[in-house]
Amino acid sequence: MTGAGEWRRILDTLRDGRRFLLLLHVKPDGDSIGSSLALGRALQKLGKEAVLVCPDELPESLRFLPGSDSFVRPEAVSGPFDAAVFLDCGDLERAGPARPLADLATVRINIDHHLSNARFGDLNWIEADAAAVGEITYRLIRELGVALDRDMAYALYASLVTDTGSFAYQNTTPATHRIAAELLELGVRPQVVAREVWENRPEPALRLLGRALENLVVDPGGRLAWTRLGQEDFQRVGAGPQHAEGVVGYPRSLRGVEVAVAFIEAEPGVWRVSLRSNERVDVSRVAARFGGGGHARAAGATLSGRFEEVAPPLLDACRAALDEDGRAPA
Ligand code: AMP
Ligand code: MN
Ligand code: MN
Repeated sequence: MTGAGEWRRILDTLRDGRRFLLLLHVKPDGDSIGSSLALGRALQKLGKEAVLVCPDELPESLRFLPGSDSFVRPEAVSGPFDAAVFLDCGDLERAGPARPLADLATVRINIDHHLSNARFGDLNWIEADAAAVGEITYRLIRELGVALDRDMAYALYASLVTDTGSFAYQNTTPATHRIAAELLELGVRPQVVAREVWENRPEPALRLLGRALENLVVDPGGRLAWTRLGQEDFQRVGAGPQHAEGVVGYPRSLRGVEVAVAFIEAEPGVWRVSLRSNERVDVSRVAARFGGGGHARAAGATLSGRFEEVAPPLLDACRAALDEDGRAPA
């Protein structure tokens, strides 16, 4: 159970400690990056040291955030730490190459919003109905008694915008909007974040989208749609897997579609699969069957092999989930 006592112990640990390690998940997104930047800055304002570790390259679209140049690579970190804080990591594996660094800390704190969270920390705070870890981080900072500044506001706003698809997904709540309103009052210009996060795209990304649309397949019945981007597609347009971000939104946007899938061949024979649903199907359960995870409406997994081997079982699992949904009472 996530109880008030656990929350207090997390606050006490953050107040009492001096040196903190902040960890985010592989292929970091706006939520994990924004939350760690905001919490790191709050801890620094309390006179503490915060080391922010990024297991992968920072996406281009988030480099506008103040402080985003302060992330260090796992191999550059040395301990000890009073606590390691995992942000937005549904399980330990999600921390990737940074995971062993947690052993340099006395206490492991796990702050997340994935329902499936494995509660791997010594202290765990899992709020599955928080739209983003940024919402939880916002409250942590408030309760630490740190005044939010504009840099933290930008970081938290980026976290909310990315995990809610600009306040469009089902996870958006009145609380999300109230926090966002306060962040705007602190000086965030929403058009700046939207332009940086969703636009400002390099040309290869748009050319790649063209390939993804050509590769679109719609299942008979129209409730399942998917696309793929293989190595040959990347090579054709001079793009890399980092340019495939958001592609799954296009099959998802199709009229009548409930489940959308994008197969992205990030390295030869390694497929990063993105799953989305619009209204009903819990795609995190489909992803979990293939070693992945995520949320009900947005999940993912990584599969190895040829497309002809990896795709059919996953698509069949999507069809089964859709059939099951069709049999359930509306
Ligand atoms: P993506 O489609 O990459 O944007 O991922 C959507 C969501 O699925 C993420 O926010 C994660 O919660 C989850 N996810 C993606 N890939 C994996 C994976 N390999 N293992 C576990 N969860 C994942
Ligand atoms: Mn995330
Ligand atoms: Mn998140």
